[in-house]
Amino acid sequence: MQLSYWEQKQYFSKVDFVIIGSGIVGLNAAIQLRKQFKTASILVLERSFLPYGASTRNAGFACFGSMTEILDDLTRMTEDAVYALVEKRYNGLLLLRKLLGDVNIGYEEKGGYEVFTNSDDESFEQCMDAMTDLNTKLKSIVKGNTYTLSDFEISKQGFNGVKHLVKNNFEGQIDTGKMMHALVKLAQNNNITILNGLDIIEVKTLPNGVLITTAAGFSFTTKKLMVCNNGFAANLFPQLEVQANRAQVLITNPIEGLKINGAFHYQKGYYYFRDVDGCVLLGGGRNLDFEAEATQQFGVTEKVQTALEKLLHEIILPQTSFTISKRWSGVMGLGNTKQSIVKQIDTHTYCAVRMGGMGIAIGSLVGAELAQLVADTYE
Ligand SMILES: Cc1cc2nc3c(=O)[nH]c(=O)nc-3n(C[C@H](O)[C@H](O)[C@H](O)COP(=O)(O)OP(=O)(O)OC[C@H]3O[C@@H](n4cnc5c(N)ncnc54)[C@H](O)[C@@H]3O)c2cc1C
Repeated sequence: MQLSYWEQKQYFSKVDFVIIGSGIVGLNAAIQLRKQFKTASILVLERSFLPYGASTRNAGFACFGSMTEILDDLTRMTEDAVYALVEKRYNGLLLLRKLLGDVNIGYEEKGGYEVFTNSDDESFEQCMDAMTDLNTKLKSIVKGNTYTLSDFEISKQGFNGVKHLVKNNFEGQIDTGKMMHALVKLAQNNNITILNGLDIIEVKTLPNGVLITTAAGFSFTTKKLMVCNNGFAANLFPQLEVQANRAQVLITNPIEGLKINGAFHYQKGYYYFRDVDGCVLLGGGRNLDFEAEATQQFGVTEKVQTALEKLLHEIILPQTSFTISKRWSGVMGLGNTKQSIVKQIDTHTYCAVRMGGMGIAIGSLVGAELAQLVADTYE
């Protein structure tokens, strides 16, 4: 494609900042950058007509940590690192809500629950033993007792075979579509240009900036580049330790008299489900075939989808007739640790990638962190 004189002049000459990826991190980085660089030209480049990664394809859990996850993390990470991560998620959610407003993101604080069945006795006992201690430690982050045993709610939710429910009283859920729509609007209102359908295939550092090459066949330069393409980061920077991982989801059609109310985790978070618009959204099953799901290819598989439906029939919606309305997948960026990578790659290039499974929670804060890093090192 050859750019016209007008296109070149309007969009690609004198670019101060380019952000690759219009997911939650890229847009937050752009919005925060604008606060420090009032007149700079800020360009967000997105390869697809909508973001094509995780930000518009997730489950919309506004969560910061279920008990089994935190206990598991405590066996692998230092205590300080575990609580720092929880705090980041909690504060990240507060920032997202403040930035966009609860109504605009469809935020509902119905609580986040962890589901324990007959075969989960051991992990349930561990949770009960640790509950008081965890609640005390989390009081420096969250006001009030985070976790409570909520067995009295099991029958209300209509489950089968569920023995215990542990509730995180401060978790909620959002409408992912509304959230991203509001974020795009806010970026545009801040004079940030978002160009969709522009796949970046190469970036090259020059003495005074970065040369960016697009799949559309033209190149241009920017003073500073921020890479926010999460699960796809290694395509441009193979040295970044980010592994693309697919996550599959399904949603039912509306179910009359649906009892389920809230956001639920099952089997250490490998499965997650919630109510939305009178339907049940269920995702997970990556643990059924780690190898096959370690991919940046979108799509759903029979193996995972069959397991998800089985879970619906046997535990989540027993004796309820339902039909599946939609199935889809998204791609996350994972790594050996749960920490995101926010750093300067070279003189003019920075990145904020590897959001793991909680990018809704940390995305706003990570975007702000990246913008601050760029501002701090800008000459
Ligand atoms: C099925 C699923 C369920 C999830 N559920 C939850 C949840 O309930 N709660 C939660 O907190 N988190 C959840 N997550 C994780 C969360 O969605 C992600 O961590 C978060 O959206 C990551 O945001 P991001 O901006 O870093 O990346 P992305 O949203 O993936 O954005 C990266 C963007 O970069 C673009 N891009 C990639 N390469 C290029 C290129 N070369 N040129 C131009 N553009 C490019 C992509 O198209 C994409 O739009 C879930 C994820 C999935 C997949």
